[in-house]
Amino acid sequence: KGTKTAVARKLSMEMDEKNESRILVFVRLRPMSKKEKEVGSRCCVKIVNKKDVYLTEFGNENDYLRLKRLKGRHFTFDASFPDSSAQCEVYTTTTAELVEAVLQGRNGSVFCYGATGAGKTYTMLGTIDNPGVMVLAIKDLFAKIRQRSFDGNHVVHLSYLEVYNETVRDLLSPGRPLVLREDKQGIAAAGLTQYRAYSTDEVMALLQRGNQNRTTEPTRANETSSRSHAILQVVVEYRVKDASMNVINRVGKLSLIDLAGSERALATDQRTLRSLEGANINRSLLALSSCINALVEHKKHIPYRNSKLTQLLKDSLGGACNTVMIANISPSNVSFGETQNTLHWADRAKEIRTKTCEANEDVLELPETRTADQTKLVLELQKE
Ligand code: ADP
Ligand code: MG
Repeated sequence: KGTKTAVARKLSMEMDEKNESRILVFVRLRPMSKKEKEVGSRCCVKIVNKKDVYLTEFGNENDYLRLKRLKGRHFTFDASFPDSSAQCEVYTTTTAELVEAVLQGRNGSVFCYGATGAGKTYTMLGTIDNPGVMVLAIKDLFAKIRQRSFDGNHVVHLSYLEVYNETVRDLLSPGRPLVLREDKQGIAAAGLTQYRAYSTDEVMALLQRGNQNRTTEPTRANETSSRSHAILQVVVEYRVKDASMNVINRVGKLSLIDLAGSERALATDQRTLRSLEGANINRSLLALSSCINALVEHKKHIPYRNSKLTQLLKDSLGGACNTVMIANISPSNVSFGETQNTLHWADRAKEIRTKTCEANEDVLELPETRTADQTKLVLELQKE
């Protein structure tokens, strides 16, 4: 519970004079897989106090003071989840507060970063028995909506898209690639399906189906490595009245992002399409790291336009948004290099500041002659 309050405090209060708050960064270690055990992997990651992460290389060092002196061997995050952490613990600590903020008309985003096989999709989507952050967030969202007195007033829309090989596709109704357009609310994919969701039950099936539409390709490094970035957007719209009895329309947006594997394309040795694809996946992730660098260094120009992914993440990284990053890592010494690389970028992401997010709202112009529904709404709002 201590961590949750720390997160809540950060989201609401820990902004500086410039009205900025920093990205919260978490690390999740997954359990050793059967395959890793079979080849005699040693565990090279130690998590201490649910915060500190030590890379031990030989798996048997306990000399943390020595590791602290070595470059790239000791990191500390807002919270670090050992391999025994349950899905709901990860959800509660990283995302529950963002769901609350979205219900107040603010924006939030969570993205999982890490090498293929490190546990990103497990963390985001999970399984039927162990649903991940995407499903738990929607479940929690509906539970919270039901608790509020003005239910029936909230409208929830979902969209699920992928960026693959610098092409944006709709995962809920696969078809032609989508074009990105910029409007006053930010960058959006034109023609993207907005699925109106009424309950949690339908959502898991919907997301799993969407996930099957994700582009996965066999590579040498991993049989079914996911080569695409998947973004679930949850938009909550509702009406409240302000002090002067105006009806206000509020919109909150939560983006949950499962990035493609961060490993270098060179790790696979297939040529032509596969390496072109690798270059494009890298282009998106490379662009992400350039944006992170530029944001950390307070550069005037942030190169969002260099890739589709960074265009879509523009709001989450540099805009008015509460942003959370979850870095997924494997415990095996075989993945030492990738783990170190992931932790390096996660560590750097801690420096990013986003603008404090105000509620997105518009005064609703209700016509003089109201429909029955509008009259009912105004009466209901006046009762509160
Ligand atoms: P990624 O999406 O990063 O490529 P996955 O999420 O697909 O990786 O994880 C790789 C494998 O490890 C999957 O079989 C997944 O079920 C398993 N796995 C990952 N994280 C965990 C965890 N925390 N607990 C149990 N199994 C996990
Ligand atoms: Mg995956």
